[in-house]
Amino acid sequence: MKFQTLQDLFVDTLKDLYNAEQQIELALPKMEQVAHHPELKQGFHQHLEQTHQQVNRLDQIFKDLNMKPQGKTCKGMQGIISEGEEVVNAKGDPDVLDAGLIESAQKVEHYEISGYGTARTFASRLGYTNAARLLQQTLDEEKQTDEKLTALAERGINTQAKASK
Ligand code: FE
Ligand code: FE
Repeated sequence: MKFQTLQDLFVDTLKDLYNAEQQIELALPKMEQVAHHPELKQGFHQHLEQTHQQVNRLDQIFKDLNMKPQGKTCKGMQGIISEGEEVVNAKGDPDVLDAGLIESAQKVEHYEISGYGTARTFASRLGYTNAARLLQQTLDEEKQTDEKLTALAERGINTQAKASK
């Protein structure tokens, strides 16, 4: 691996995000399936549809760069998702499990927010206006998703979860 230019770094970040989104496409249906609270379930469903669009945007960016869309194993996302799977596979109180799912989902969103923010800034800096716009669009969706999760947690799910025995 050699990073001589910002362009090299930009492409590497895109590959990381591409693979991260693919991992998320596989993880979200499981989270949707085990979520108890209907709004949380629906939120995961909605974000899965957004995620497909986000992959399409990355496809478009690679195309504009005359590159084949390509991922590179995102180890960060692997770690976050495997921690999330512990909650997905856990037994326990439904409200507590939902609070755990929200925690995992927010960790995913925060990773994406930092990745897309960086990629967007690289794209602007490199003069890829269209890529910067597409990355900003995804960044906005990830931020909205994060805020919705916070609202769900604060509005009900966490308060319904038993604090202690
Ligand atoms: Fe995403
Ligand atoms: Fe996301």
